[in-house]
Amino acid sequence: MDAKLKPWHGIPREKISWHPTVDETLCIGCGLCVTGCGRLVFRYDYQDKKAVVKDPDSCAVGCVTCANICPAHAVSFPPVSHIHRLIKEHELIKKAREELKTNHEKYAV
Ligand code: SF4
Ligand code: SF4
Repeated sequence: MDAKLKPWHGIPREKISWHPTVDETLCIGCGLCVTGCGRLVFRYDYQDKKAVVKDPDSCAVGCVTCANICPAHAVSFPPVSHIHRLIKEHELIKKAREELKTNHEKYAV
C-alpha cells in the first residue's frame, strides 16, 4: 500500500485532495468501480449493495476513470482546476522540464 502513496511530483500524497466521492442515492451497486480500479480505492458494501471509497489517497492524482465508467453517474471528483492550481503553486512544469533534461535516456523515444 505504501508504494501507492508515493509523492506526486514531490508533493506528499496526503496533502492532495483528489479522490472519488460516491453519491449513494445514485449508486446502483453494479461494482464496476470497485472491480475496475487497479488501486483498490473502493470496497463493496455487500449488505446495502453500494460502492464505498475506502482508501481515497490511493487514487491516482488526475485519474477520473471510475467516474467515466459509472453507468449511474454516481461518482464525482473535485474540479480539475484543483490540479492545475497545484501545478502552478509547486512549479511543476519547471520541475518536469528539469526532469526531462536530467533523465534524457530514460524518456527519449
Ligand atoms: S460504478 Fe457507479 S453505480 Fe456502479 S458501484 Fe460504482 S458508483 Fe455504484
Ligand atoms: S480515479 Fe482511477 S485510480 Fe482513482 S479511484 Fe477511480 S479508477 Fe481508481
